[in-house]
Amino acid sequence: MSDCLFCRIVAGTIPSRKVHEDELSLGFHDISPHAPQHVLFIPRKHLSSLNEATAEDRELLGHLLFSAAKYARENGFADAGYRTVINTNRDAGQTVFHIHVHLLGGRALAWPPG
Ligand code: AMP
Ligand code: ZN
Repeated sequence: MSDCLFCRIVAGTIPSRKVHEDELSLGFHDISPHAPQHVLFIPRKHLSSLNEATAEDRELLGHLLFSAAKYARENGFADAGYRTVINTNRDAGQTVFHIHVHLLGGRALAWPPG
């Protein structure tokens, strides 16, 4: 989708600080980090939100989580811990409508979220 910010990042027409790239997905630093480690994992395929995912996307969604865990391991904060979050629609505060997994770590994170 040409009007989607994250599709533009996938296409390379908007720059990003990439940390991961494979045939299905991309990982890059959040532009406005909320933790010392704040990386977004997105599918190359446009999906507006988790609400639009179908059974066909099961593997893709698992792939995003695996990529996040791998990044946390390889960057030394997996044992200390981290959070993976997918915000969906208004009540969760979703602002970019191309599905993404937030990986947050590098500090203690409060729970429950506000
Ligand atoms: P959400 O509120 O869950 O939709 O998260 C969207 C995230 O995308 C926010 O944390 C933003 O800081 C982040 N973001 C917005 N534009 C960019 C960009 N150009 N590059 C990297 N991250 C971005
Ligand atoms: Zn998109």
